[in-house]
Amino acid sequence: MGGGVPTFPPLARPVVEGAILAARTTWRVGGPARWLVTPTSIDELIALGHRLTATTPRLLLGGGSNVLIDDAGFDGVVIDLKSGLRRLRLLDDQTIEAEAGVTMSALAHFARRQGLAGAEFLAGIPGSIGGALRMNAGAYGSAMRTLLLDAQVLDPTGVIHTQTPEMLRMAYRHTALPPGWIFLSGRFRLQPGDPEAIRRTMRDLHRRRAASQPLDYPSAGSVFRTPPGGGTAWRLIDEAGCAGRGRGGAQVAEKHCNFILNRGGARSRDLLALIERVREKVFKMSGIELENEVLVIPAKG
Ligand SMILES: Cc1cc2nc3c(=O)[nH]c(=O)nc-3n(C[C@H](O)[C@H](O)[C@H](O)COP(=O)(O)OP(=O)(O)OC[C@H]3O[C@@H](n4cnc5c(N)ncnc54)[C@H](O)[C@@H]3O)c2cc1C
Repeated sequence: MGGGVPTFPPLARPVVEGAILAARTTWRVGGPARWLVTPTSIDELIALGHRLTATTPRLLLGGGSNVLIDDAGFDGVVIDLKSGLRRLRLLDDQTIEAEAGVTMSALAHFARRQGLAGAEFLAGIPGSIGGALRMNAGAYGSAMRTLLLDAQVLDPTGVIHTQTPEMLRMAYRHTALPPGWIFLSGRFRLQPGDPEAIRRTMRDLHRRRAASQPLDYPSAGSVFRTPPGGGTAWRLIDEAGCAGRGRGGAQVAEKHCNFILNRGGARSRDLLALIERVREKVFKMSGIELENEVLVIPAKG
């Protein structure tokens, strides 16, 4: 990896050099991290922030289910937030607090066990609460915004702020989080419900997902955002004749052609080339320029 980045200062937690990021993304793509750190508490995360210089490139990684990491990896500090920060607790009879590293599935099942409804849609979305807050993840007409009471957010100087969905201007797959800020946890407001009925809803949603999405191969879910003004990205991609198109080990799924699958050995350059090809073909056919929902992470930060 390139020079010019200072030696990493010593930390209480081990710092892993050269960890392969493909193992930490659902696309199974991505080269080595210059440094990988896994804070196990908010205090450790704050201490880490104090030790990094303002210019050290850093990448926050939750479940890695919405990112495309370069084949060259990431020449900076990757902060793995999913392996630590996993506290999940009931605050009162309708409110759950979850730290950023808790999986969405864990939150949904915890709520069900407490007899709390409203988080069922989260069960099938891979990834962490931190990543879901950052993306305002959603499905089947609900989104994080609808559940979130407020979030604890760490700014780059180490100060913790409480932010409401309005302050974060959460909208379709969008949260206005300033650069360098980190979601630490969220408080979620749910409604009392019957655990059996909640279980049935979760099962139904799971069946709908399994029937419509290609879950047998690594992917990052929907690659493109729903275009403004109506319609769906998958229909445009289908109509542009892209279903089944491939590049290297990457292939546009036939079952749901807004998914691009890693059919084995795909590299980020294959995925990027295929994403661009799909965008061009859709534009030529419809005049609509699809925008990425997945976040492309450059190797140099
Ligand atoms: C099979 C499949 C199905 C999917 N279905 C859906 C769906 O139905 N609905 C949907 O919305 N999405 C879906 N996705 C996409 C993805 O799961 C969501 O976007 C999810 O919220 C990403 O969470 P993550 O923890 O994996 O984030 P990551 O991919 O790790 O990170 C995403 C972004 O969030 C930032 N980030 C991560 N943690 C934090 C933090 N604590 N503070 C600040 N920033 C942070 C990262 O730096 C990055 O910019 C799907 C993906 C797959 C693979």
